[in-house]
Amino acid sequence: MTADEDHNIESSFKEFRFRAITDTPLSMAMKYALIHPLRSPGSPDFLFDDETVKSAIRKIQADWRCKVIDLGDEGWSPATGIGLRVAVNCPPTFSTFGIARGSKRASNRACRKYLVCPFCWTRKVVGETFARLEYDLYGTSRSQRLTPYDRGDADVDPLPLDIIEIRRTDIVGTEHTPEELTELAYKSRADFRKGFDKIRGALSLSTIEPVANTWKLTRRFLIVLHKGHGNEIPEESDFLEVRVHKEKLPLEKLAAIVGRVCAYPAGMMRGDPEMVRKILHARRGSRKNSKGNLRGTSKRLMNFYGKLRNKQDRSAQSS
Ligand SMILES: [Zn+2]
Repeated sequence: MTADEDHNIESSFKEFRFRAITDTPLSMAMKYALIHPLRSPGSPDFLFDDETVKSAIRKIQADWRCKVIDLGDEGWSPATGIGLRVAVNCPPTFSTFGIARGSKRASNRACRKYLVCPFCWTRKVVGETFARLEYDLYGTSRSQRLTPYDRGDADVDPLPLDIIEIRRTDIVGTEHTPEELTELAYKSRADFRKGFDKIRGALSLSTIEPVANTWKLTRRFLIVLHKGHGNEIPEESDFLEVRVHKEKLPLEKLAAIVGRVCAYPAGMMRGDPEMVRKILHARRGSRKNSKGNLRGTSKRLMNFYGKLRNKQDRSAQSS
């Protein structure tokens, strides 16, 4: 890219003026999923104060803009032409803001490149997971706009269910391609589920990201079980993290769980742009199934099972 083009892109950056940081349980889950891996690794706390969150959003936005430009230079086509301008101006989440006067075309269009865009990651991955779990545990969801929390009946009783988080991390050499890893993750997604009897619902989410000169493959599972399920819980090991939640979960606790399971893969932001482009390409290649009609990117990134397939109030049919 020439200096002139570079200048052009920067002049199309919209200036976001943050008004407030939102504090719904969903926003808390989004904050955890993004700020924890990108801005404060190692910190178990996600109740950041608003100023910290605002400056984190600004920094993440600046990093994302650089990443998009790098990916465009690597030939990732969504980061060229008009797509580039949409991506660099993708609106942040868990905050409200105005767009400064003088910023051209003040549309708030999201770029929807959720495999890599940190804000779209929270909209899609965190948002969808949270809504489905919330609906299963509380019998309501964001599709009704307001959570029990927002409505002021935060004492709505969640169902007494056990929730198990499992995270398996593998570091794989670059002799393997992201296509192979995508395939591996896809094929193994049912294995963990099969290890449990009578699951109520589950989420399987797999990410590939570059870390140093290797691929990091992370398979994350969230398994919802009825009380007294009697399943044996897998043991922790060097590559397996396991967390079991047995109490009735208040929404804030649910937010922390969703934020952790759906943590943004930081290597997509920090890693080598060429490796990131290869991952995006491999995942794009999975758009079609044998019938050629599957919108497979999301299918391969995350799968919902059992009750977590229910997006809206379908309790009449699904009980
Ligand atoms: Zn985006």
